[in-house]
Amino acid sequence: MSKVPFVTKEQLDNITKEYPTPFHLYDEKGIRENVKALKEAFAWNKGFKEYFAVKATPNPFLINILREYGCGCDCSSYTELMLSEAIGAVGEDIMFSSNATPAQEFVYADKLGAIINLDDFTHIDFLEKTIGHIPETISCRYNPGGLFKISNDIMDNPGDAKYGMTTEQLFEAFKVLKTKGAKEFGIHAFLASNTVTNEYYPMLAKILFEVAVKLQEETGAHIKFINLSGGIGIPYRPDQEANDIYVIGEGVRKAYEEVLVPAGMGDVAIYTELGRYMMGPYGCLVTKAIHEKHTHKEYIGCDACAVNLMRPAMYGAYHHITVMGKENEPCDHMYDVTGSLCENNDKFAIDRMLPKIDIGDTLVIHDTGAHGFAMGYNYNGKLKSAEVLLKEDGTTQLIRRAETPADYFATFDCFEIGEKLKK
Ligand SMILES: *Cc1c(COP(=O)(O)O)cnc(C)c1O
Repeated sequence: MSKVPFVTKEQLDNITKEYPTPFHLYDEKGIRENVKALKEAFAWNKGFKEYFAVKATPNPFLINILREYGCGCDCSSYTELMLSEAIGAVGEDIMFSSNATPAQEFVYADKLGAIINLDDFTHIDFLEKTIGHIPETISCRYNPGGLFKISNDIMDNPGDAKYGMTTEQLFEAFKVLKTKGAKEFGIHAFLASNTVTNEYYPMLAKILFEVAVKLQEETGAHIKFINLSGGIGIPYRPDQEANDIYVIGEGVRKAYEEVLVPAGMGDVAIYTELGRYMMGPYGCLVTKAIHEKHTHKEYIGCDACAVNLMRPAMYGAYHHITVMGKENEPCDHMYDVTGSLCENNDKFAIDRMLPKIDIGDTLVIHDTGAHGFAMGYNYNGKLKSAEVLLKEDGTTQLIRRAETPADYFATFDCFEIGEKLKK
């Protein structure tokens, strides 16, 4: 499979005339088609709802597109709650799935009427002391421990993850919450990240459905929803096959009919908190080659760097690169494609076979729509880039301006030096 950018060279030549590189570009058409497909795939479930994981792409313009399709917001911090409130996502349109939660975040989430998803047994007490009551609708995050395997492949290691409650704690939590006035319950688990297999969600669903049946039997709690959380991945590499959301939806339906329906729990709503799957492929980082360097290796230096996209530096993650206009040229040059940080990890690609790159070429770094801009930082005093939306009609809209030095120095504004740094 070859990976093709969602924007043509001609379009991008025009866009880069208007917006200086680097910037993240998002594809409205792709976002819409994808969320429509997700909704169709889960249409069999009456209460289905996607809560977009705000941390993945915290841009109100992009989240508002998803809001048109009934999506809510999955938040885990104060500012994510603020962002949700600002776009009108309040009450049960917010899932507050946080951990090691500061008290004032519980207070704010409660004020907004968000559904609170407790990460730990001890949070029951903490929440009650903090907000003075236990909400009628409450959710608990489950971590069964061990390794999460599909066939013989280890998908992830929940036993090593800081999130969620053990099985025993989960049962105890439901009992305690019930005595404290909770009436409607949710169960949540996130056991594997970026899964590129149609089996993850159905397997996770089966585990949660079975626990839900036991919980209802043993505690009498009414389970309103089961939150399958995030974890559906995207094919970052050209040789990976994309998930089929319809197959995934069917797999979850099968488990639902096998486990929940016979237990008289056919009214349970399925919730998701997808981030990467909703936005990842519909964003890219646009940068220009500004230097070439021939030393012990061949380097291409870009005007973007790891502050714009941290995943390669942080996880060694693969992001495909297209050299615009050279799609059909042979990939017969091996490059390290780097940014300008004084940090040797600042490489978008290492030993990557690409067409010959010339200074001034535009590079598209794929699949930056989730956990891309959002993970950005300011090392070396580098400024965060703009975000631009490529609309369905082919026009563009600036949906976040680039940072300026004044933004970078803003936190000195209460000092004398702040005046000198104002530009
Ligand atoms: C990060 C996160 C998600 C989204 O994960 P993706 O891998 O982007 O799908 C969902 N829920 C919670 C609680 C998260 O922390």
